[in-house]
Amino acid sequence: MKTFASSADLSDKEQTLEVLDDGVYALTAEGDPNVGAIEGEDFLVCFEAMATPVAARSWLDRLREHTAKPVRYLVLSHYHAVRVLGASAFGADVIVAHDNTRALIAERGQADWESELGRMPRLFREPSSIPGLTWPTATFSDRLTIHLGGGRGELVLAYLGRGHTEGDIVAWLPRQRILFAGDLVEAQAALYTGDAYHRDWMSGTLDAVAALGARALVGGRGAVATGEDAVEAAIGQTRDFLATMLAEVGAAHSAGGTLKDAFAAAHRALEPRYGRWPIFEHCMPFNVSRLWDELSGVQRPAIWTAERDRQVWDQLQE
Ligand SMILES: [Zn+2]
Repeated sequence: MKTFASSADLSDKEQTLEVLDDGVYALTAEGDPNVGAIEGEDFLVCFEAMATPVAARSWLDRLREHTAKPVRYLVLSHYHAVRVLGASAFGADVIVAHDNTRALIAERGQADWESELGRMPRLFREPSSIPGLTWPTATFSDRLTIHLGGGRGELVLAYLGRGHTEGDIVAWLPRQRILFAGDLVEAQAALYTGDAYHRDWMSGTLDAVAALGARALVGGRGAVATGEDAVEAAIGQTRDFLATMLAEVGAAHSAGGTLKDAFAAAHRALEPRYGRWPIFEHCMPFNVSRLWDELSGVQRPAIWTAERDRQVWDQLQE
């Protein structure tokens, strides 16, 4: 029996802060969730909030070696707990997310918090420092532009369609051609698709991500993709992971097989290419379970709870 999700992954990952352009920062961590920041003339935009305020504070300490500007905007790419529950550490004037993200936090934020704490306990540094659910204070449906001032251009927050969740947004610097893609793209880390819309994600949504023409891309996990070839490769890997899952789970589903058959087939097909990437084994049972539902006509992803996590794990990951 494999150890549940990432509960046995207890060794700290090395964090790397990269300056991608003047005033554009990314912190990556060997497959742990990435975060970023963009300087305006007299303010900061932070992208993603980490799992707890204590975890976020060590990121902010590193950022403070480069800039003392106050955080005006905290942008949340989607509702997942390890991305949002550190928000209080930023002291942001405005917390920005998609309309659907706000609704998802109201509907399932509490359940998701408990689920993710059980799956990834290491990321929740001092969980008692979390003051409660994070509520966005400004939401949008399509696009929101932040003018950075002082000749720094603009930062475009955009919804490109359903994907990793039903409310993912990206942060795009058109002048610098740098994209913060959230969990819509992973660079050499496994995809989590337990709350996803696989068919939309692998077609129109990833097409829209690719059409931006980034020269550097910060995905949800994994190293920064630098250069057009690396960006294309990261988007391509993401699409291939989804396409392989759809082919394998789809074949088992239409042949009248079981969820267990689908899991075995998808695991077998993906493992040679992706099996050594971070969180692959952790994600697969939840991914296949959601895709099976999607193919069965279940419109919206079922809510993950700590209890349902264990049931699905015990059924599939043995
Ligand atoms: Zn996520």
